[in-house]
Amino acid sequence: MNKAESGYLEYELQNHGWFPVQAPEEAQVVILNTCSVRKTAEDRIWGRLGFFKAQKKTHAFRLVLMGCMSERLKEEILNEAPHVDLLVGNFQKHRLVDVLEHGDTVPEAIAEGSGRNAQRRPRAEVHQEAHLIDSGEYRFAERHSVSGFHAYLPIMHGCNNFCTYCIVPYVRGSEVSRNPESILAEISRIQTPEHTTGQMIREITLVGQNVNSYRYRNQDGTTLTFPALLRRIVPVLQDRTWLRFITSHPKDMSAELIDLIATEPALCPHIHLPVQHGSSRILQAMGRRYTREQYLDLVARIRKTIPEVSLTTDILIGFPGESEEDYGLTLELMRTVRFEDAFMYRYNPREGTRAFELGDDVPEKVKKERLSGVIDLQRRITREVKNDKLGRIVEVLVEGISKKNEGELLARTERDEMVVFPGSPQQIGSFVRVRLNNLQGSTFRAELIEAGRS
Ligand code: SAM
Ligand code: SF4
Repeated sequence: MNKAESGYLEYELQNHGWFPVQAPEEAQVVILNTCSVRKTAEDRIWGRLGFFKAQKKTHAFRLVLMGCMSERLKEEILNEAPHVDLLVGNFQKHRLVDVLEHGDTVPEAIAEGSGRNAQRRPRAEVHQEAHLIDSGEYRFAERHSVSGFHAYLPIMHGCNNFCTYCIVPYVRGSEVSRNPESILAEISRIQTPEHTTGQMIREITLVGQNVNSYRYRNQDGTTLTFPALLRRIVPVLQDRTWLRFITSHPKDMSAELIDLIATEPALCPHIHLPVQHGSSRILQAMGRRYTREQYLDLVARIRKTIPEVSLTTDILIGFPGESEEDYGLTLELMRTVRFEDAFMYRYNPREGTRAFELGDDVPEKVKKERLSGVIDLQRRITREVKNDKLGRIVEVLVEGISKKNEGELLARTERDEMVVFPGSPQQIGSFVRVRLNNLQGSTFRAELIEAGRS
């Protein structure tokens, strides 16, 4: 989501004559788009703020902090990072370009601000006040900058689930679904050769905190659901395009959606389906609204309907009250499902969430040990699952030149697996067939079997 929203700003800024620079000391404006999901993400931004504080001593530029940290830590940033010139919350991103260009002429009611820092730091207050004016209304950007052959397109924003550990519903607000006409128009735009970079988009990922709860109320009172949206998108895709989506909440994974993935060739057979934990007791405490058994049943139904599906997940270890037995159940679930890959985290208490009240009783040392346990297990499973695919001939979309070896190309399968193979840059942006020969880490090494069309 942050990548997509940064893409929107990039598009707007470039259309207003701003362009990216190579080094911080050349910049007139520096924008940090932030995440608050984990403390580590916020810590990195505090580090960056320190870096730019030092930079400000040697040259002049405006420092903008936007995104979830601006929502969550507004006061703290105003007080502890006075070198931040603009604070832009999630509901005000569409105003940033205007304020950067006409900062001195924004309406007075907004410019004056109302907080205790209003006189000292009027710029920051512009956005504190703007937040109040815009609160509750998220505006989807109509256009995003895209580069390469892949685009992230937001289709919904916010979350109504309030998992007890998660800050997202507080910083992103309630779910809103984007107007389908705007989604279709943007897809048509980025699939014309004239779009910003002149390359043909071959892969689109629809993004949202919980895409499968997408619901758009049409003017005639009917509701467009996520599978219905996908059915509207498929016919407007130009030529050959892969369509993906993240993230799906297991409780909203309908039979209709599973059937659609199985039958619609444009939809990639890859589902990111965060399980979070293997113990029903912990899942309940997390507020996930499914049990271990229900999740396993869902996986069985998905695999039955889409036999070649690749399933990836998120795992969150060290939630308050997690026992050795709960942890063991998570390892066992991982062994049963055999996810292709996983994002694995250790629990961070987030102030303001319901779980914060439960304390943080799993010692850090134990959390780290348990996290290494799940990481080791997943690495082994990933290797085994991928080893089973060696020798197969598969289609891949060539994304670019390998960073490690200029003579090799980097590509992706429709199951979201990375592949490198020797090839020429002319293949970039086309679908080709390769044979998967061996594994390097979790990346397949392959050889070209059949060149494709671009
Ligand atoms: N909406 C998605 C879902 O329901 O699974 C997840 C979105 S969340 C922004 C991404 C991941 O961050 C979660 O799946 C969870 O594993 C992790 N996460 C969220 N809150 C966390 C916390 N307090 N500490 C550590 N990881 C957290
Ligand atoms: Fe956070 Fe995802 Fe739960 Fe929403 S569904 S509260 S984004 S973990």
